[in-house]
Amino acid sequence: MNYRKFGNVVNEISALGFGAMRLPVEDNHINEKEAIKMIRHAIDAGVNYVDTAYPYHQGESEIVVGKALKDGYREKTYLATKCPVWEINKEEDFERLLDEQLDKLQVEKIDFYLLHALDKDRFENKIKKFNLIKHMEEAREAGKISYIGFSFHDELPVFKEIIDYYENWDFCQIQFNYINTDYQAGLEGLKYAYEKGIGVIIMEPLLGGKLANPYENVASVLSKEKSPVEWALDYIWNHKEVALLLSGMSTMEQVEQNLLYASRSSVGMLSEENIAMLKKAKEVFDTKALVRCTKCEYCLPCPAGINIPEVFEVYNKSAVLGEEKAKELYEELEIKASECMSCRHCEGECPQHIIISEVMKDVSEALQTA
Ligand code: SF4
Ligand code: SF4
Repeated sequence: MNYRKFGNVVNEISALGFGAMRLPVEDNHINEKEAIKMIRHAIDAGVNYVDTAYPYHQGESEIVVGKALKDGYREKTYLATKCPVWEINKEEDFERLLDEQLDKLQVEKIDFYLLHALDKDRFENKIKKFNLIKHMEEAREAGKISYIGFSFHDELPVFKEIIDYYENWDFCQIQFNYINTDYQAGLEGLKYAYEKGIGVIIMEPLLGGKLANPYENVASVLSKEKSPVEWALDYIWNHKEVALLLSGMSTMEQVEQNLLYASRSSVGMLSEENIAMLKKAKEVFDTKALVRCTKCEYCLPCPAGINIPEVFEVYNKSAVLGEEKAKELYEELEIKASECMSCRHCEGECPQHIIISEVMKDVSEALQTA
């Protein structure tokens, strides 16, 4: 494993962090045995950052991570989880939720505690309104957490505003990959935080898996010297401003693959040509992507039963596979986009700020045959 400096808080953090949002699933529940095996294997190989959150796997992720960190594993890794700020409707909710999380994780202390998925609305109506920074500091004084941070999904000016709002952020977590260089916080946000000494964690390095199996025309731009996954991860590790990247691993094979890539990683590892190639791949991608869905599933369940990310995946494929093929795939979907009632329950949950009800109309128009 390669270790990197993490802002001003930790000198040696593993280049790869274990994200527990896409653990293996069986019968709609986490396959505990396999998930624990994967997490422990990663730690045995040197991973020292495990990241979960209150809503992951409908609340099961924190419990399974807690079990994985038994038997001496807690001492070998930093543990991160996130405060579900959307659940906070009065100041006392903060401590109640934190205590519930400590209980589910079966730990005395969380090392890295993040205010989850901040955007302008949550920043104004949750963080400021309910004094959540003060509550984070109190939790630290009480020994329940060690480091204070936030994860972010909104535009760059909002990111800068949040960074500048509080002098003592230890770290933050942003979406970044070779496609999202100028989206949300992006490259400019990464550098902005780094220059202020704030450690930056990268999420969505593979854009919800899209960069693992890129569209054919994107794949054709990438040199065969490395796999599409390795190119995507190396792009991130190449930046000195990045502390670590999180990968939401679902199989032992992915764990092994990521461990290998992390062991080969370093700052400045890519040549000028490599960077130009990835820039070209982004240009091709940008002309083809219809919806920026990362398949995080925060929007589910939909009251109409629509599997929103699945519908969007088929829609995105229409730009690559052609309309006829996409229509065939669309026909196979059990519940179609046309069932959308425009209730908009899903939209407030979407970290990519997709106007889902509007896109459902576009999908229905483009792909519905009958
Ligand atoms: S707006 Fe449409 S897709 Fe979203 S939750 Fe409502 S019915 Fe489902
Ligand atoms: S539509 Fe938004 S919330 Fe739903 S899976 Fe895609 S990115 Fe996530």
